[in-house]
Amino acid sequence: MCTLKQNFDQQVVVKSMHSLYLAGPGDVSLKEGAAARAPEQNEVKIKLIYGGICGSDIGVYKGKISHAAYPITPGHELLGMVVEKGKDVAIPVGTRVVIQPNSYCDECEQCQKGNTNLCLYKKSLGVNTDGGFAEEFTISAKYILPVPDELPDERAVLIEPFAVVVHALKHVNITGETSVAVIGCGTEGQLAIALAAHLGAAITAIDINEAKLSDVQAYGSIQTYTPASVPAEAKFDVVIEAAGVSQAVEQAVDIVKPGGKVVLIGLTAEATLPILKIVRNEIAIHGSIIYNFPADFAQSVDYLIHPDFVIDPVIAEIVPLHEYERAYEKAAAGQCAKIILNFKEDSRP
Ligand SMILES: [Zn+2]
Ligand SMILES: [Zn+2]
Repeated sequence: MCTLKQNFDQQVVVKSMHSLYLAGPGDVSLKEGAAARAPEQNEVKIKLIYGGICGSDIGVYKGKISHAAYPITPGHELLGMVVEKGKDVAIPVGTRVVIQPNSYCDECEQCQKGNTNLCLYKKSLGVNTDGGFAEEFTISAKYILPVPDELPDERAVLIEPFAVVVHALKHVNITGETSVAVIGCGTEGQLAIALAAHLGAAITAIDINEAKLSDVQAYGSIQTYTPASVPAEAKFDVVIEAAGVSQAVEQAVDIVKPGGKVVLIGLTAEATLPILKIVRNEIAIHGSIIYNFPADFAQSVDYLIHPDFVIDPVIAEIVPLHEYERAYEKAAAGQCAKIILNFKEDSRP
């Protein structure tokens, strides 16, 4: 009789494997190297299924993230399968898992408070430590979360980027009575629209790109504007900034109601804000960075597991690994939402 474990052992007897390699800004290639090392007692070896290309991956690719370290293996939105495990790991071989790609120490003041997203010693896969765009890699089991069988791969790969939005919207209370504006309709903006729509809010989407404004109609009846065409009288209870440019932050404060809340998800270095207006109108501005683990990931799964939760339109294309250059170019062009790299056997080089 052949156990599942033995099956996987037979499948993963590989002497080498492919991984993406970013030698420096703009210089991405696929390299063949040694197979991932055997896991230590608290580690697992993961065989990758899908890898989502994120805005921060494109930031590293374009040389726009100051703390990026080159050369580096990119990638942090990772869905894979456990193919080997250390003796202290309870999660069985053969389990589909998603990766939490930001390390945390468990010991600093922020970790003690449960704010793993603010860990003083945080490192981010694919930005300042090697990421997971590889056929296989070895990682601490602390950073994996099993994916329920009901969740197809195409939704499971969205658990991590969607957890960003789940966390961000915890700063505000959205109900069927709330008017919400989302500025920036890339992946995170669309995920925010999907969640706000699910919560019953009246949603306005704002983007400079008309094609993205028509894409968001997939999430329901959404009012759309380009930034310049927002009517002067249009004001909102909650404004979510997901464009990552200073003008969007400034517009967010401009269009929020007195007593309203602005949530900043985009990574903008600076903006000029009318402090007197913010004080007099009691406008709250919440910065929000990634998520806490495992709470926000678990909640992300709880939403995604409902088949009626509309999120699939956020995936613009699933591209086979051997077409990685086209995938990076398409993602870097910024004209669409999520590009997923397919690492399944038949998509490999
Ligand atoms: Zn990401
Ligand atoms: Zn810490």
